[in-house]
Amino acid sequence: MQTRIIDGNALAREARAALRIEVEALSAAGRRPGLAVVLAGDDPASRVYVRNKARACEETGVLSRQIDLPADVAEAVLLEQVERLNADPEIHGILVQLPLPRAVSSERVVKAIAPEKDVDGFHPCNMGLLTEGRPRFVPCTPKAVMAILDREGVALEGKRAVVVGRSNIVGKPVALLLLQRGATVTVCHSKTVDLEEATRQADVLVVAVGRPNLVTGRAVKSGAVVVDVGINRLPDGRLVGDVDASSVTGVAARLTPVPGGVGPMTITMLIANTVLAARSARD
Ligand code: NDP
Repeated sequence: MQTRIIDGNALAREARAALRIEVEALSAAGRRPGLAVVLAGDDPASRVYVRNKARACEETGVLSRQIDLPADVAEAVLLEQVERLNADPEIHGILVQLPLPRAVSSERVVKAIAPEKDVDGFHPCNMGLLTEGRPRFVPCTPKAVMAILDREGVALEGKRAVVVGRSNIVGKPVALLLLQRGATVTVCHSKTVDLEEATRQADVLVVAVGRPNLVTGRAVKSGAVVVDVGINRLPDGRLVGDVDASSVTGVAARLTPVPGGVGPMTITMLIANTVLAARSARD
């Protein structure tokens, strides 16, 4: 079996080019999409994510605003900042970079974001709409997984899909989206007995755990489509996913690499959600 490596960077470039055209049209109509990113503290990984988000805004013409707050920011100050952005007509999307400093409740902060500006899709209202099968903002990584499968022309109806990981930001929403598209979905997690037996059933396998080499070639059905969401930094500095790419190559029909797979599409989906928010904004 020849395994095709899916080029997430190329898919993201294509998607951003299409978004740029939409942003130009909205800007010409006086509604340039605007994204505000709130960063509290100086976590190095968060800084990299925020910088990449600003770059994606620049590439697509979206107005980007960054609000830097100190690591010891009081929750009340953060909430006040969110309130100000909720009321700002130039800003259509608000993203509060997680994790937040320990003294601040992320739950309260996420709930304070106006649901119609919640481009991360983590507000309970947006989670609820997704669960009901009528999503408004789909969280960016699950949206990226679906966009990759769609752009690759992967049929989902009637297929067996297995999702490994059940977090609120990746595993659960991916499972719901696959279910809505007519796949028969199994969700696995740390308590699953015989993970390999479960993953071997998958026509479409999505792995979002955060453990290098968790899924090897033995655990994959021949001809499966494998989407590796995991990002792990090895002691030698290399970045790898949750899937052991070398043993899965030759077994799977298609595989997303790490880096260069889901990651670039995730940030692109943040732009897509911001454009959607601007399009639906009331004047
Ligand atoms: P979480 O830590 O929130 O969730 C991990 C999930 O994996 C949990 O449901 C956990 O199960 C499950 N799990 C842990 N160990 C095992 C195991 N041995 N076998 C099966 N399941 C297991 O992580 P996230 O969902 O936030 O992220 C997952 C990965 O995706 C991380 O590597 C993260 O860096 C990456 N990521 C990548 C993004 C991208 O843009 N490419 C964006 C977001 C995340 P249980 O619930 O039982 O504890």
